[in-house]
Amino acid sequence: MLITMKDALKVAQKNKFALGAYNIGNHELLRVAVETCVENNAPLILAIHPDELEYLTDGFVEYVKFEANRVSIPVVIHMDHGGNIDQIKRAIKCGFTSVMIDVSHADFEENIKKTKEVVAYAKNFNVSVEAELGTIGDLGDTLEGGSPTIIYTDPSVAAEFVERTQIDTLAVAVGTSHGIYPKHMTPHIRTDIIKEITKVVSIPLVLHGGSANPDNEIAEAVSLGISKVNISSDIKVVLFNEARTYLDNNIGAMEPLKIFPTGIEAAKKVIKHKLGLLNCVGKASLYK
Ligand SMILES: [Zn+2]
Repeated sequence: MLITMKDALKVAQKNKFALGAYNIGNHELLRVAVETCVENNAPLILAIHPDELEYLTDGFVEYVKFEANRVSIPVVIHMDHGGNIDQIKRAIKCGFTSVMIDVSHADFEENIKKTKEVVAYAKNFNVSVEAELGTIGDLGDTLEGGSPTIIYTDPSVAAEFVERTQIDTLAVAVGTSHGIYPKHMTPHIRTDIIKEITKVVSIPLVLHGGSANPDNEIAEAVSLGISKVNISSDIKVVLFNEARTYLDNNIGAMEPLKIFPTGIEAAKKVIKHKLGLLNCVGKASLYK
């Protein structure tokens, strides 16, 4: 069942759980996300970054839509970190039900201006819009990018940003980074900032860079009002490490149906674990 982000997160916000948004840069990742969420009766967000769309091609989205409509759980197809209006238009033409416009690197007024343009366009198609205030960290080698140092969202301007842009969901920078943290770095989610933002902003909040953060911090962030958590690296790392092991142990192996199954099973376990942290298991029933 294909739905918009606004409808998906409204229920999550009311019932204090979060949906996971999983980047599906190939067929195996799509399978992992859909199968695990169906098995756990959990609503699902399938995220595709503009660079991933370029790689997958628009035809792949037809398959994603087919899967979304085939299953009974709610599914959102979301563009992750759209960088300009052309990428947004392409996503909407393909049938995405949600887009993110990320102008977080620009100054406040520029962020508002560009985000408003996307909101004005997307509302013609009943497509939800997410924007980012503050800048999420980047640990390198990620499509999503970010800032080498996290620029925390300023709660004192968050309400103005939401009011002036009329966005549906707000991505906040509260201590997470895209990618996997190196061993010497201990991430810490600033729950005090989440609390301050929820006092002044009523729309659902989004946490990016949700891989490799301590489980208790993710769960606490959800209990405080985060309604969507983006998880990408944790799943990809497991899928491809398993595939790498298989290839190392089976020189000359070339069949995808032999290379990927152990990785698919391992990655499904990661998502199942995350669904528990997000309090998302069984929540698809709330949408019926
Ligand atoms: Zn992100």
